[in-house]
Amino acid sequence: MTARILVVDDIPANVKMLEARLLAEYFDVITAENGFAALDLCEKTQVDLILLDIMMPGIDGFTVCERLKANAKTAHIPVVMVTALDQPSDRVRGLKAGADDFLTKPVNDLQLMSRVKSLLRLKALSDELRVRLETARKFGMVGEETVAEGDASEPGQVLLVDPRASSQDRISKSLRPIADVTAISDAQAALFYAAENPTELVIVNSNLEDYDPLRLCSQLRSLERTRFIPILLIADHDTEGLVARALELGVNDYIVRPIDPNELVARSLTQIRRKRYNEQLRASVEHTIELAVTDGLTGLSNRRYLDNHLKLLFDRARVRGRALSVCLTDIDRFKLINDTYGHDAGDEVLKELAVRIRSTVRGADLACRFGGEEFVVVMPDTSLDMAATIAERLRSAIEGKPFRLSATGLELNVTASLGIASISEAIQNPGQLLKAADQALYEAKNAGRNRVVAAAA
Ligand code: GH3
Ligand code: MG
Ligand code: MG
Repeated sequence: MTARILVVDDIPANVKMLEARLLAEYFDVITAENGFAALDLCEKTQVDLILLDIMMPGIDGFTVCERLKANAKTAHIPVVMVTALDQPSDRVRGLKAGADDFLTKPVNDLQLMSRVKSLLRLKALSDELRVRLETARKFGMVGEETVAEGDASEPGQVLLVDPRASSQDRISKSLRPIADVTAISDAQAALFYAAENPTELVIVNSNLEDYDPLRLCSQLRSLERTRFIPILLIADHDTEGLVARALELGVNDYIVRPIDPNELVARSLTQIRRKRYNEQLRASVEHTIELAVTDGLTGLSNRRYLDNHLKLLFDRARVRGRALSVCLTDIDRFKLINDTYGHDAGDEVLKELAVRIRSTVRGADLACRFGGEEFVVVMPDTSLDMAATIAERLRSAIEGKPFRLSATGLELNVTASLGIASISEAIQNPGQLLKAADQALYEAKNAGRNRVVAAAA
C-alpha cells in the first residue's frame, strides 16, 4: 500500500520518530511543524492520511481537524489525532472535530501501523467508489447531488460476539448512547445473525470459548452478505500476534482490554460512519448508472444501453452458435397524433406503448426506446420464425385496444409497423442486424403499415 502521509507536530523529534517508522514501511512522508502549514499542504498536494498533534502553537489540532473536515476538498482525508495526554475528554473533543482515530504518545508501533493501514484501506475503497460515481455522472450527465459524510445521528446496528454475560452487559451499556447492540455468545449463531440482519459493525471479543475468534473474522470476510461489515476486535494487551493476524484477515480495528468506554465509542462510531458513507456512495453509483441507461419518459432502457448490451448479446450468440433476433417497432402516423392532440398526448401514447411492449415480451428480452417513436426488442435464443410470432403478438396488442389518454379520457386507435431480423451468415455485427430490421420496417411502412415484415434470412 503506497500512500502519502502528512505528519504534523511542533516538536521536531516527534516528527522525526513517526517519519522514520512510516518510511520503514515505504510510505511517502511529508511533514509540517504547525497547523497553518498543514492546512496549506493539504490544499496544495494530495495527502492520503494525516497524523495530527493536538497541542501546537498558533492553531491547535482540533481546529486544524475542523477546518479540514469543513472543506469539501480535504474532508475525505482521514485524520489520526496524536495525543500526549491520555485524556478521554481529548478523544471526545477530537471526535467532535471529525477525527477518524486516535493514538496516544508514546506511539506503539503495532497501533500506529494498524490504524494507518486500516484507515488507508477504507479511504482506498471510498476513493474508488467516488471515482466510479464521477465516471457514472460524466457518462450520464445526471445526479449532481453530493454524498454527505457518513451520518452517525441514527443509532448504529452493532452485533457483539462475546461469550460472557457480564462483559456483554458492560460493553452494551457503553455503546448505548450511539448504538443498538445485539449480543450473541455463540460464534456460529453470530455469523448467521450478521448475514441475515442489517448490521453495521461486528465487535468480536477475542476470548471466545471453544472457538477461534480469527475463524469468525475470516468467515465474516468471506461471506457475500457480511464482507463489507466492519469488524472491531477486542484483544488482551499481550496478544500482538493475534491482533496482527486479525488485521491481515481484514479486521478493521482493535481495542485492548481493559476497555476505555470513550475509546470504544469513538472507534465504533468511526467504523459506523465510514460504513454509512461507503453504502451511500455505492447506492449513488448504482442510481446514477441506472439513470444513465434508462429512458426518462418510458422507463425502458435507452439507446446507450442498447448499443452496449446488443454488442455483448451478439458476440455471445455468435460464439455459442445460438439464435438472436431483433424487432424494430415504429408507430404509424405518429406525427398526426402529435399534431392533432398535442405533444403531451403523444408522450402518453409512447408510455402506454412501452407498457404493452413490456407485457408482450419475455423477461430475458431486452426492450429499449431506440429514439423518438421507435422501439427495439432484442430477443436472445429466438429464431426469425419465433420472432415473427412475437412481433405479430405485439402488433395485435397495439391495434387490439385503443390507447386511452388520461388527461382527456380520449381513446385513440394506434397501429405500428414492425421489422424483424436475425443473425445469419450475411450479418457480421450488431449494426448490420439493426440495419436489416430497419430495412424490413421500411418495407412494412411501404406495404401499407400496421404489419410485420421479416428481413430476408
Ligand atoms: P410513419 O408512419 O411513417 O412512421 O409516420 P410518423 O408520423 O410516425 O413518422 P415521422 O418520422 O414523420 O414522425 C415521427 C414523429 O414523432 C415526429 C416527432 O415529433 C415525434 N416524436 C419524436 N419523439 C417524440 C417524443 O418524445 N414525444 C412526442 N410526443 N413525439 C415525439
Ligand atoms: Mg412513425
Ligand atoms: Mg419514425
